Amino acid sequence: MTKFDVSEAVKAQKEYQERTGSPSFPPTFGTCWSCNTNIYELYFWNYEHGRKVPANEKDFKVKTGISVEEAGERLVTGCPHCNRSYCD
Ligand SMILES: [Zn+2]
Repeated sequence: MTKFDVSEAVKAQKEYQERTGSPSFPPTFGTCWSCNTNIYELYFWNYEHGRKVPANEKDFKVKTGISVEEAGERLVTGCPHCNRSYCD
């Protein structure tokens, strides 16, 4: 089961960066400065006229978010929700 937890994911990403000597790209507490969602929370989306709109978990096309496991396994370089890159 994929787990989503903001504080655990923040910690996991920090540990990953320390372990690998990577620079820190994501916002400290995971809140994207571009779209104001939290990158470590799970969001559900639908598409309306080609635009991504918020949906609920029973009726959605895509879901985005960085899980605790993922935050501990790879360097976060952008927002999964709006695809904004944090490294430029
Ligand atoms: Zn974003």
